[in-house]
Amino acid sequence: MVQPGNMMRMPLLINSILTHALESSADQEIVTALDDGSLHTYTYREFGRRVKDLAVGMGHRGLLPGHRVATLAWNTYRHLEIYYATAGIGAICHTVNPRLSREQIEFIINDAQDVVVFYDGHFAELVEQLEPRCPSVAHWVLLNEDADQDHAGMHYGAWLGNDVRNFEWLEFDEDTACGLCYTSGTTGAPKGTQYSHRSTVLHAYASSHPNALAISCSDAVMPLVPMFHVNAWGLPYSSLMSGAKIVLPGSNMQGERLYALCERAGVTLSAGVPTVWKGVLDHVESRALTFSTLQHIVIGGAACPPHMIASFRARNVTVRHAWGMTEVSPLGTVCQLLPKHASLPGDETLQVLASQGRPLFGARFKLVDEEGKRLPHDGVSTGHLMVQGNWVISHYYGKAEPATEDGWFRTGDVGSIDADGYMRITDRSKDVIKSGGEWISSIEIENIAMEEPGIELAACIAESSEKWGERPVLFVVPKPDGCLSAEQILARYQGRVAKWSIPDKVVFIERMPMTATGKIQKAALRSLPLPTKPQ
Ligand code: AMP
Repeated sequence: MVQPGNMMRMPLLINSILTHALESSADQEIVTALDDGSLHTYTYREFGRRVKDLAVGMGHRGLLPGHRVATLAWNTYRHLEIYYATAGIGAICHTVNPRLSREQIEFIINDAQDVVVFYDGHFAELVEQLEPRCPSVAHWVLLNEDADQDHAGMHYGAWLGNDVRNFEWLEFDEDTACGLCYTSGTTGAPKGTQYSHRSTVLHAYASSHPNALAISCSDAVMPLVPMFHVNAWGLPYSSLMSGAKIVLPGSNMQGERLYALCERAGVTLSAGVPTVWKGVLDHVESRALTFSTLQHIVIGGAACPPHMIASFRARNVTVRHAWGMTEVSPLGTVCQLLPKHASLPGDETLQVLASQGRPLFGARFKLVDEEGKRLPHDGVSTGHLMVQGNWVISHYYGKAEPATEDGWFRTGDVGSIDADGYMRITDRSKDVIKSGGEWISSIEIENIAMEEPGIELAACIAESSEKWGERPVLFVVPKPDGCLSAEQILARYQGRVAKWSIPDKVVFIERMPMTATGKIQKAALRSLPLPTKPQ
């Protein structure tokens, strides 16, 4: 007969991360780049005190467990304080992406029924428009320490209660909600994913593992991924849990500023989407600069082109390509090499590193065909990617019906998995190009185009074809000084991919349409007129 174990059970709560950080790393630093170019630096100790001040202040203003507390904010120490204070009182930190349209933000705040919105001054105009349209919000709070003549409303400093003497963190069930994040809603209305304390703590544990992001107390971690993009991939939790120094870039995301901050704050590990890293790399390459402290970077959110991995490796920076999504908290896989890869030639190593990597313990993947039949993990079979795990969504926020099929969540991505568990995403299922019965990976076509030094950005979509069903079309943004012909670009594909995978047309455009999370917006490309003849 099975026997219960005889061990203590402590709920996995976010305030336990804070308590641990304060008891073991109180002198560690949190650094924020401010708008004027200066740095704000304080210790975990000071951070912890202010988190308590804020929790007390929230209590004074009537915030209760379960209330949704929204943020429209960059990566700063105040945003981090809101993360922890909100979770600590059993409320829910709802990070809203300020780059979405005003209509989407209004929908999201109303759908979540947020009661407070904390906002950075950069979004004051947006807030003016939102205020009359979001009746659930009782308090709009400017993230300023002091009252500001230009803003009549409330300011953050006034929310910091100053009597924390008898304050203790609440104990509640680990399945209590602590965070809320909406998908950008490129197809249909945005939908919310509500994280629990348990899912968040387990995700932080798993993502700090050496096979994953490998965060330790020796690291200085700089999340370039915004705190409104799936909780900056959990770094606000995993960094504190590991006792790492935290470096927050604030509002300025230009490559030059990010590189300078990295050097000034001694950053060893950082994470962001490919477009942000491209800005950093362009700056470093154009001035032949080197990284004096940066060791590892995490690139995810969209496929990382192999040439970007090679460029960072040439500068002694290891790239960990990661796959994730809002509904998966977000991390599902991270790519690192195995000992058997040590003897591979450089380009084959690069091919491994360009895959999306292997699952974190706590997340499982499977591939299915159109009929839902399981496909083998042989590195060749390509199918729809399904995921299950401790930090994977079960229901969308406010929806009764499950978001899962037989206990698995359909990611909407298509790819393969090999016998070592390496996952290779070929496309979002809606972006797959089916030509003459064969699948063409738009990611593979884009990666080859991006090797061309004269190309700033490239994206491949399908054009319908009477004869073949669909044919690939490549959109290219040339670099300002680039002088490129379509023939020159297409020549790169000869001998690299099957003949039928080579795009029929190359369309030059001035600007790539991007989503609010810095990804290429293929839906917008599809609505552009195409030339009738191949170019
Ligand atoms: P979001 O929920 O907005 O972060 O978007 C999640 C989607 O981004 C995934 O379903 C993938 O389609 C895409 N994605 C994330 N990481 C990667 C990656 N490393 N390679 C390719 N696609 C990715």
